[in-house]
Amino acid sequence: MELALTPALTKHLKNPGIFRDLAEGPGPSVAKKRKRLAVFNPSTGELLAEVTDMSAEDARAAIEKAYIAQEPWAHLTARERSNVLWEWHRLILEHSDDLAAILTAEMGKPLAEAKSGVQHAAAYLQWYAEEANRIYGETISAPSNDRRMLVIKQPIGVVGAITPWNFPASMVARKISPALAAGCTVILKPAEQTPLVAGAMIALAKLAGFPDGVINLVYASVGDTIGRELCTNPKVRKISFTGSTEVGRLLMRQCSDQIKRMSFELGGNAPFIVFDDANVDAALDGAIRAKFRNAGQTCVSANRIYVQSWVYAEFTEKFTKRARTLKVGDGFDPDVTIGPLIDRDALTKIEAHVEDALQKGARVRCGGRRVGTSGTFFEPTVITDVVGSMRLAQEETFGPLAPIIRFEDPDHVVSDANDTIYGLAAYFYASNLKRVWRVAEALEYGMVGINTGRMSSEAAPFGGIKQSGIGREGSRHGLEDYLEMKYLCMGGL
Ligand code: NAD
Repeated sequence: MELALTPALTKHLKNPGIFRDLAEGPGPSVAKKRKRLAVFNPSTGELLAEVTDMSAEDARAAIEKAYIAQEPWAHLTARERSNVLWEWHRLILEHSDDLAAILTAEMGKPLAEAKSGVQHAAAYLQWYAEEANRIYGETISAPSNDRRMLVIKQPIGVVGAITPWNFPASMVARKISPALAAGCTVILKPAEQTPLVAGAMIALAKLAGFPDGVINLVYASVGDTIGRELCTNPKVRKISFTGSTEVGRLLMRQCSDQIKRMSFELGGNAPFIVFDDANVDAALDGAIRAKFRNAGQTCVSANRIYVQSWVYAEFTEKFTKRARTLKVGDGFDPDVTIGPLIDRDALTKIEAHVEDALQKGARVRCGGRRVGTSGTFFEPTVITDVVGSMRLAQEETFGPLAPIIRFEDPDHVVSDANDTIYGLAAYFYASNLKRVWRVAEALEYGMVGINTGRMSSEAAPFGGIKQSGIGREGSRHGLEDYLEMKYLCMGGL
């Protein structure tokens, strides 16, 4: 088979040969004449690879394979499933430099961030390789002595997993590894912008020894084609989706006839609150990380930074100074801390948010413009004099734009922070213990960072409430989302 990875990609790889199946996708091969999905580097515009652009027919074939493979996979012992996950984990670490290079090439983020993304992906595999051995049931005290009552846990069955482009390695691991540990089989549809690192990870999964049909990769240029098949095919028992709230709503409607299990990790609009009793320098570090990591393209990005009036001037001045030192450019340049935005639509959105804020009286402290004419780069931007009616305070910008909002009343800021349809992540910095507990409990979010701008961990339940999602990923709770509960009642004893 012809290798469709171009030198623009292979020049970054130590072992390009190992990923030679990538172009076809280690998934089903049904259609004869295949359309191709071209993948570009957002920093340079170079063509990196062409992979197979699969159809609904391919998705059906993948579902069939996953359906056939599910029972034998579930019948292995937990230890046997765990061993294959461990081997996949080992291979991901062995090839982590190449995986990170593929990630930076197709998504743009700085190589150091890509490396930590691959380590994070490996951490999920490790966690669920361990967790596979800890699937427990329950015994219940029966109301009469002639009965025994038990609960056993069984895999849900075939799972459709749809992932976004912003963390293309860890999202794949975060969904697939608990599903496999539970005994489910998977059809994975990665984002059309970043199919390559997903393909490379699945190529390694094949080497690790997952039986045929246990993991099935479906590349597609149009999410809708595959998504519709996954949602409407009765053999798929669960959809696990990470992406926008808008697409989440659509998938929910499409699944309604089948009453499927669903896990959704959707959009966010995270508040980041700095109270006057905070350690301002620690809050600065946290805010810079929570805002500018991945060029602001994270679902947990600090989208609204509220600073109490007593520390407002100091925080704003220092934050702007730090933002000015961030270097925008190609992720392969070791000095770069902010890569490109994923595409031109993302540039248009951030520009519209800046423009709207300026028209409504906001002030740009730094940045505010595109960088260069090629690529999709945008300056790290700090905007003050922000009010709640501006688009940047209401919508997820998904870019390196930091709106700072001054507040006086600590009670009022919590209700402002909660005034959004989203409920994924929130952050606050404070030292008074009473305030810490009160605010932590009052914030209507699935995750709250207290005196930290960094939360994501394979050991913790990641997820949101309100229109940010349903279910949790990571930790033992993430495994439960792939298990059905069966109640057994034994009588006549
Ligand atoms: P998106 O919803 O456009 O796409 C995500 C995935 O869904 C892609 O694979 C895409 O191909 C697919 N898709 C698109 N339309 C579809 C359809 N009609 N049917 C089925 N699948 C379809 O989102 P995006 O722009 O790629 O990602 C950014 C969004 O993801 C942001 O809102 C961000 O907050 C969210 N996100 C959330 C989390 C979380 O854990 N909550 C993590 C990362 C990203």
